[in-house]
Amino acid sequence: MTDTSTGTSTTLQGVGIGRGLAVGTILRMPDPLPEPADVTSSLTADAEKVRAAGALAAAAADIRLRGDRAGGSAKDVLDAQAFMAEDPTLKSDVDARIETGKTAERAVFEAFAAFRDLLVSMGGYMGERATDLDDVSQRVVAHLQSVAAPGVPTPDYPFVLVARDLAPADTALLDLDRVLALITSDGGPTSHTAILAREKSIVAVVGARGALALSDGETVIVDASTGVVTVAPTADQMAAVEQTLADRAAAPEVAVGPGALADGTKIPLLANLGSADGAANALELGAEGVGLFRTEFLFLDAEKAPTVEEQQVKYTALLTAFEGKKVVVRALDAGADKPLHFLNDEPEENPALGLRGLRALRANEPILRDQLTALANADRATNAEVWVMAPMVSTVEETRYFTTLARELGLKTAGVMVEVPASALLADRILADADFASIGTNDLTQYTLAADRLLGSVASFQDPWHPAVLRLVGEVGKAGAALGKPVGICGEAAADPLLAVVLVGLGATSLSMSPAALKDVRAELARFTLDQAKEFAELALSANSAVEARVAVLAAATPITTSQKLEKSE
Ligand code: PEP
Ligand code: MG
Repeated sequence: MTDTSTGTSTTLQGVGIGRGLAVGTILRMPDPLPEPADVTSSLTADAEKVRAAGALAAAAADIRLRGDRAGGSAKDVLDAQAFMAEDPTLKSDVDARIETGKTAERAVFEAFAAFRDLLVSMGGYMGERATDLDDVSQRVVAHLQSVAAPGVPTPDYPFVLVARDLAPADTALLDLDRVLALITSDGGPTSHTAILAREKSIVAVVGARGALALSDGETVIVDASTGVVTVAPTADQMAAVEQTLADRAAAPEVAVGPGALADGTKIPLLANLGSADGAANALELGAEGVGLFRTEFLFLDAEKAPTVEEQQVKYTALLTAFEGKKVVVRALDAGADKPLHFLNDEPEENPALGLRGLRALRANEPILRDQLTALANADRATNAEVWVMAPMVSTVEETRYFTTLARELGLKTAGVMVEVPASALLADRILADADFASIGTNDLTQYTLAADRLLGSVASFQDPWHPAVLRLVGEVGKAGAALGKPVGICGEAAADPLLAVVLVGLGATSLSMSPAALKDVRAELARFTLDQAKEFAELALSANSAVEARVAVLAAATPITTSQKLEKSE
């Protein structure tokens, strides 16, 4: 990630999410407030207590209002934060600290910090609430100091938001009429910020080093298709962008319908979902079924394993919504990024390499049996075409174990996710036992490049365009074609329109993605034939790096791209 001077303008390189293009002025997320000084208050204890009570109540009211405005799951998160600001035990602790001569600011800071440490020591779900508590503490202190609260700014004009990274609640709360684009300095293409940005169709470039040096009021062009942020663009660059935006607005819409290449080859386009709530939206956007149902999202907060009945209700709701369509349900995928306390609560030195995915399920076989039983029951009661798959399978033996168990418990179509290089390299043997494979490119990229998908400092390695990742995808594609077994893609790579074409060229037979990405991917597939997709795949495979692969295919696919237009106009 480098800054490159281009005449009067400067560019930052990050990872683009989707293909959006936007131009606007920067507004930065306010920096966190400094720790209030530990000095003796010049006010009486009673006066400080009144200040503290007022700030706690005002922060709670603010947070609740933001929740009401946002609705949905963001409201639940924010309501829980408002309760924290109103917690009587915390309030007594603040008062007790004020009695010792501290200012209201310092007392609030210390009381929240002490409670935070307590939550962290409890671990699990409570530990995860610690960050929420920090956010509330900052908001109360901001009230006391009459300064801007941290979090997403809410001016009454459109802006490009620049932040280190966003908390999930911040992303969920973005006002899409005002936020023209999002630039973060941290986070990779599979971070929750990127996934939510894609879901909400926000023009975004993540992991753009140097973004925090941008200042409020600077004009930028944000091009997600290339991951380039152009700072202080020239008049010619602005004109080129406006032309591109006008061209895109005038381009004919591809009708919502089944995914297909220009030569008519069918490539079913499916949705990635975490609950049945997203079903109606996915169908409206043309999802031909579900390619990845992340069941663990249903039970992230659960302390105990869900019962067969509880699960059956949730699976039945999903299958009913997709009557007559294919629904690929993934068995619970507990991992470093989404721990399930009832499956793997043991601390691990390297969680991404630990007891996760199918390994964790196998260590708790009764839980896996309950899940497969619940799914088989829901299957019998509904009319969708149910497929089931195991996450993070790394051996042929694991494949046999899972597919045998799933079939024994009544599921007709059982497959595996290819997320580690070992299973891609042995895809011919794995697909001899599995009915299908679904490639999880998020994890496959992380394990191929040895780059933690949650770590901003290695985000530049987390690029599924990397020829090593593509070669592995090609291995699975070849094995699928030889054995006549379907090979789906369900990682974020399938949502990158041009990469989706390359993946088809490598042998993918279906693509699954956040519903918001369906439209662009459908349009891109319709531009090329299978022979062209195969040519692009060869180009990408013969590149030396992800950047080279992307540039080579971009050049072959579009004679004049946005970035070339920008360069030409300088
Ligand atoms: C993946 O790894 O690509 C995948 C689809 O699974 P998840 O992102 O849920 O780990
Ligand atoms: Mg995965």
